[in-house]
Amino acid sequence: MSNIRFDALKTAWAHQPQKIDSVHRASVIFSQNVFTRDKMKEYIASNIVEELFDLMDNEKTLSRDIANSVAIGMKKWAMEQGATHYTHWFQPLTGGTAEKHDAFFDFGDNGAPMEKFSGSVLYQQEPDASSFPNGGIRNTFEARGYSAWDPSSPAFVIGDRLCIPTIFVAYTGEALDYKTPLLRSITAVGKAATAVANYFDKNVKRVYTYLGTEQEFFLVDEALYNARPDLMMTGRTLMGHYASKSQQLDDHYLGTIPERVLAFMTELEQEALKLGIPIKTRHNEVAPNQFELAPIYEEANLGSDHNQLLMSLMEQVAHHHQFRVLFHEKPFGGVNGSGKHCNWSLGTNTGVNLVAPGKNPYQNLQFVTFLVNVLKAVHRHNGVLKATIASATNAHRLGGHEAPPAIISVFLGAQINEALDQIENADVDKGIIINAKKEMKLGVGNIPEILLDNTDRNRTSPFAFTGNRFEFRAVGSSANCGAAVLALNAAVAEQLNAFREEVDALIAKGEAKERALFTVIKRCLKECRDIRFDGNGYSEEWHQEAQKRGLDTETSVPLMIDQYLKQDSVQMFGSTGVLNHAELQARCEVKWENYSLKLQIESRVFGDLVINHVLPAAKRYQALLLEKVAHMKQVFDADEAKALNEQDCLLIRRIEGHASAIIAGVDKMTSLRVTANHIENQRERALAFHDTIVPIMEDIRKHVDELEMWIDDQLWTLPKYRELLFVH
Ligand code: ADP
Ligand code: MG
Repeated sequence: MSNIRFDALKTAWAHQPQKIDSVHRASVIFSQNVFTRDKMKEYIASNIVEELFDLMDNEKTLSRDIANSVAIGMKKWAMEQGATHYTHWFQPLTGGTAEKHDAFFDFGDNGAPMEKFSGSVLYQQEPDASSFPNGGIRNTFEARGYSAWDPSSPAFVIGDRLCIPTIFVAYTGEALDYKTPLLRSITAVGKAATAVANYFDKNVKRVYTYLGTEQEFFLVDEALYNARPDLMMTGRTLMGHYASKSQQLDDHYLGTIPERVLAFMTELEQEALKLGIPIKTRHNEVAPNQFELAPIYEEANLGSDHNQLLMSLMEQVAHHHQFRVLFHEKPFGGVNGSGKHCNWSLGTNTGVNLVAPGKNPYQNLQFVTFLVNVLKAVHRHNGVLKATIASATNAHRLGGHEAPPAIISVFLGAQINEALDQIENADVDKGIIINAKKEMKLGVGNIPEILLDNTDRNRTSPFAFTGNRFEFRAVGSSANCGAAVLALNAAVAEQLNAFREEVDALIAKGEAKERALFTVIKRCLKECRDIRFDGNGYSEEWHQEAQKRGLDTETSVPLMIDQYLKQDSVQMFGSTGVLNHAELQARCEVKWENYSLKLQIESRVFGDLVINHVLPAAKRYQALLLEKVAHMKQVFDADEAKALNEQDCLLIRRIEGHASAIIAGVDKMTSLRVTANHIENQRERALAFHDTIVPIMEDIRKHVDELEMWIDDQLWTLPKYRELLFVH
C-alpha cells in the first residue's frame, strides 16, 4: 500500500547558494526594479518632477495633470524593464496584498494596436472589489471601492507587471485597507511630534515615523507540506505529537544556516534588494526550521509596504527551492511561534532620533519627553493596542511559553527605569542628567571597549524600549504591521497633543519652558507607572499583578476586539483623524468574521483529517494486532497465548479508547459548529467559536497525538513533527 508520507520523504533536491559576483552585489542591484527619484528625474520632464517631489515631501494633493505626465515616464521605464501589464497594488483587510492586472495593450484612436497608460489609471481605479472584506461599509453606502495612487511609496516592476502602491477606499471615503489609516496616522503623529520637538529646536519642520520589521517564519519541505492538508488549508498543524528532540538544546538559534535554506535566502535577498527592500539581517531562530529576516528600518509607510512585498516574495522564491514558507504565528505545538517585531521610532528632518538618549542634558530632556509620552500613550491605550494584534492565529502564540503574554506592558531596562524614577522624584528647579551610553570595561587586551546598551534584553516583554527605538513584539508574523503601527501612531499623536496643551497652558501662565516641561513630565510619569514592567511576563504573578494595575488581561480574541469601540479608543482614533466610528465598527466586524472563518476552516479540516487519515490508520493497526492476537492460540496453548497477548490487548483497548473519544469529539464539534455558523451577529459568532470550538479541538487533538505515539510508523500517513521540523 502506498503511503503519501513516505512518498514525500523520498523527494530529492540539490540547491547550492548562488555566488554573488560584482554584477549582483547588493549596492549594484539595489532598487533596480523601482521607479526611484533618480529614475523619475530621468524619465519625467523636469518641471513636473519638481512639482511631484514637492507634493511627495509635503503631503500635498496630486493633480491629474501631473499624473498624466508621470504616467508617460513611468510607462516608458516599466516597459524597458519588460513590463507588459500594470496593476494597482493595495492592502485590503484580508491581510494580504491585492492586484488586478491590466495590459498596457490597447487600440489607439486610429484603431491601431498600441501600449497605453494614462494618468487617470495611474491616479485612480475601481477594482471590482465587492468580495473584499469591508465590515458592512460598502453595503450601507455604495458598493464601490476605489484604489488611488500613493506617491509616497514608489512604483516597482515584478515579473511582467508595473505595481503601483495605492490606498483602497469606499465611494464615501471610508478606508477599506491598512494603508489609508496608516498614512493618516503618520500625518497625525508627525504634526503632533513636530510641535513638541519645537520646544527644543525651532528648526524641526517635520517628524517621520520609522519602522523596521523583524520577520520570523518557518520553512517546510514542499513535498511534506503537500502531504499535510492542515498546513495547506490552515497554515498550521492541527495535530502532531511533539518530536522527541525539538528546541531544548537551543542548538538551532543563530546556528549555521542549512545550505538549502541559504540558497533560498540568497535568491530572496537578491530579489528583495532589486525591489528596494534593504534586507540586512538573516539568522536561524529558536525553533528548528525557524528563521528571521530583517531589513534596515525605513519610513513607516514604506517599511510596511516592503514587509508586505517581502512576504509575497518569500512565498514565490520558496517555491524555487521546494520549500513552503509558514507565516502562521504558531504552526507547530510545543516549539516557539513566530512574531513580527515592529521596531518603531520618531525622527526629525534635522536628523535627530527623538526616542534615543542624546549627548547633553538638553537633548536628554527631549528624549525623556518623548519617552514619557509614548509610555503614557501605551498605558492609556494598552487594551486597543492589544486588539490590533489579536487574531485567531496570533492567539496561539500570545501567552505561550516563549511569546509575549496577552498583556501589554513596557520594558525599559534598569538604567532607564532608574533615571525615570529620579525624574519623578526630582525637584522641579534642579536640572536632570541622564547618562548617555555607559562604557563597559572588559579588561581584555586588543578587544575594544563595548558600549553598554542602555537596555537589557527581555524576551518576555510585548513592548520593549531597546536603546534607540521601541519594539512592539507582540505583533504576529502573519499580520499586516500597519494595523499595529497605525494605532501606536494615533495613541502617541493624541498624547503628544494633550502634552503640548498642558505645557502651553503652564507657559501661558508665565512658567519657564523647561520648568513647564518638567512639571508635566513628572505628572505623566506618575500616571503611567503601571505600564512599566521589567519582570517575567510569563509568570502567573504578573497576570494577577497586571489585573491589579488595571491593565487589559483579556485572553479571548473576540473580546479583545471590543476595545476598538470603547469610548477612549473612538476618541483617540477620531480626534487624530485616523479612523472614524464607522471605520472602527467595520474593522471590528471584519476581525470577528475573520476569526470565525479561520476557526470554521480549521475545525472542518481537522474533522476531515481525523476521519480520513487518523482513524483509518488506527483501525488498520488495530486489525493487525487483532489478527496476531487471534493467531497466537495456534502456536501456544490458551493460557500462554493469553499471557503473551496481554500487552497487545492493552494496546488494542488503548487505541479503541482514543478512537471512540475522537469519534464522539468530532460529532460534538460538528454540531457545535453548526450552531455557531447559524449565529448572525459576527461578534456573537466569534465568541461561540472561541468558547466552544477551540476547547473541543484541543481536546480531540490530545487523543490524536496519543494515537500517533502508539500506531505503527509505517501506517501513519501524515508527515510527523520530526520530519516537518528537521528536513531541510
Ligand atoms: P534585534 O534582534 O537586536 O532586535 P535586528 O537587527 O534583528 O535586532 O532588528 C532590528 C530592527 O530594528 C532592524 O530592522 C533595524 O533596522 C531596526 N531599527 C534599528 N534602529 C531603529 C530605529 N531607530 N527606528 C526603527 N527601527 C530601527
Ligand atoms: Mg531580532
